[in-house]
Amino acid sequence: MTVVAIDGPGGSGKSTVAAALASRLGLEWLDTGAMYRAVALAALRRGIAPGDGEALAAVTRGLHMEMGPRVLLDGEDVTAAIRGHDVDAVVSSVASHRGVREELVGRQREWVAARGSAVVEGRDITSVVLPDADLKVYLTAEPAERALRRAGEHAGGVPAHAQVAATGEAIERRDRLDAGRTHSPLVVAEGAVVVDSTKRSVAEVVDEIVALL
Ligand code: C5P
Repeated sequence: MTVVAIDGPGGSGKSTVAAALASRLGLEWLDTGAMYRAVALAALRRGIAPGDGEALAAVTRGLHMEMGPRVLLDGEDVTAAIRGHDVDAVVSSVASHRGVREELVGRQREWVAARGSAVVEGRDITSVVLPDADLKVYLTAEPAERALRRAGEHAGGVPAHAQVAATGEAIERRDRLDAGRTHSPLVVAEGAVVVDSTKRSVAEVVDEIVALL
């Protein structure tokens, strides 16, 4: 039984590293950010304000989500839709509400309990969801590199300079919200190892994490 928990800011390479690590270890991988994104998408579609914690918590409790290489929300494939700029803009506000977090944290723990071993990544996995994980990693990278990576994901290739600048600002805004919120802020949890992915390949970072294990 091996549970690896990875937290870190946007663009630090968490999802890429978590997927590669899981494949190296022969484990399943859970991207918890995709769950918050699915709730944000559902809220946008229902016209619920990102500040309405009670309505958001009620919607979250009623959503059916299947997490995997494809993300299914009430049976619909929303893998691409949850990566849109509209979702980027509201997801951190949606994720700031206690009721939303309680519901998703419960589901994340159930997902891990059903499998026994897994790689799980997000913002509060090392601190709140799985503080007893076998290995806790705080993955980070320099802001300029994080902006470049995220902009590249959106552009589907090499992004324009203006796109990188705009993405950098959006990432910074979300970092501030995620690190400054009252419930489960992004922190370097006790016992977590800080790993910097700046200017390093995915394989190098995965090697370092496997060595830590
Ligand atoms: O990882 P990703 O950028 O897709 O996460 C989107 C947002 O979801 C984060 O900015 C954060 O507000 C929220 N989130 C969270 N807790 C997690 C994972 C994501 O609050 N465990």
